[in-house]
Amino acid sequence: MVLEKLVEVSLETLRACYTCFKCIGVCPAGLRPNLFVKAYLSTVFRELRDVYEEIVTNSSLWSCAKCLKCVEVCPQKVPLNDVIEYLQREAAKRGLAPRAYQDMVENIMGTFLAFGSQTIVSRDGDFYTTGEARELLGLTPLPEPNKIEKFRERLKGLRSIG
Ligand code: SF4
Ligand code: SF4
Repeated sequence: MVLEKLVEVSLETLRACYTCFKCIGVCPAGLRPNLFVKAYLSTVFRELRDVYEEIVTNSSLWSCAKCLKCVEVCPQKVPLNDVIEYLQREAAKRGLAPRAYQDMVENIMGTFLAFGSQTIVSRDGDFYTTGEARELLGLTPLPEPNKIEKFRERLKGLRSIG
């Protein structure tokens, strides 16, 4: 619903892109943000569907560093960050997100950490989980986020990536 509204609200802004290529010139990830605009517009203009498929199925979509440089230089104030996030969500819904992202979401759902904790081996050759090692060392337990159910609910969409 929110995404549909985004298309509706931003449509005129997106159509204002006149392919000046300024966004391409500044992108540190070597992306072509103006193509993302075309892909986004394909939700309305079906003749752009090929561009949409090309972008959503290409792993470079996930190379965006979210630096906002493209947004900063765009003379037409195209909300490229919203466009990229929309396309990433669409790709994720189709299971096209990189495996590393999927693993990260799984880890967060399970342990609240972006990266899974490793088994710790002591000098005596004993194995410990991070929680056990923290306890042994007298460290405070890792905090869990407040409102955990709400947190999990918010992540469910991302979890469907896999
Ligand atoms: S800088 Fe803006 S107007 Fe120029 S190509 Fe990129 S999105 Fe289009
Ligand atoms: S926000 Fe993403 S697409 Fe835009 S310039 Fe930065 S890396 Fe490139």
